[in-house]
Amino acid sequence: MHRIVLLGPPASGKGTQSDRISSLLNIPHLSTGNILRKEVENGSPIGLEAQKYLDRGAYVPDELILSMVQAWLSERPEGWLLDGFPRTKAQAEALQNLSGVDKPTLVLGLEVPKEALISRMEGRRECSSCGKTVSLKEGQEEICEDCGGNLVKRSDDVIDSFKVRYQNYEKLTLPLFDFYQEKGILERIDGTQAPDVVFEQIKQHLVSEQVHGEA
Ligand code: ADP
Repeated sequence: MHRIVLLGPPASGKGTQSDRISSLLNIPHLSTGNILRKEVENGSPIGLEAQKYLDRGAYVPDELILSMVQAWLSERPEGWLLDGFPRTKAQAEALQNLSGVDKPTLVLGLEVPKEALISRMEGRRECSSCGKTVSLKEGQEEICEDCGGNLVKRSDDVIDSFKVRYQNYEKLTLPLFDFYQEKGILERIDGTQAPDVVFEQIKQHLVSEQVHGEA
């Protein structure tokens, strides 16, 4: 049974790799960032609250995220993949203790230096229809290849917001590498390479988790 957490700084490729992992293993995945953006778009009470934080790059309060994630996880006992959660020590501790939810079995930590993240963030677009994240190539039309929706720049993908998100990442999320290392479930992934190469590294860990899990 796979219960996987994907850690990594903003624009490190978590969304791209989540799509691939969840198709490969046939497990559902939750991107807290995508869910929050949808809530904002729909103007729901959660969205109205979250919007205060999203555009300036601040983390949304733990309680708001936790209630969303708990509801989602409790309906998925067959395994899952989380992208963007946990992001703070309080969230990670809560995930270890959620009633009715089993603990993560594997944490993949994507490592990419800050300079590379900034140029990725500048070329990143999101499909306004299906939510897919793509890296825009020169001269490429801003239309989603999967569903024909418009590709748009996220409103938080601007340098000021990125800087705040990165600072928060270093201060609040990076300590989770040690948290999971101590639990013996962290695998570090070199996220600087092309998506296919990164995915190959990830697959090796998924295979060894399977072998380990069955032993
Ligand atoms: P990125 O990884 O590029 O920062 P995400 O799509 O994962 O983008 O998240 C976008 C924003 O959603 C974050 O900057 C933050 O405001 C909010 N967010 C997502 N997940 C969480 C979380 N677990 N805790 C707090 N805020 C979150």
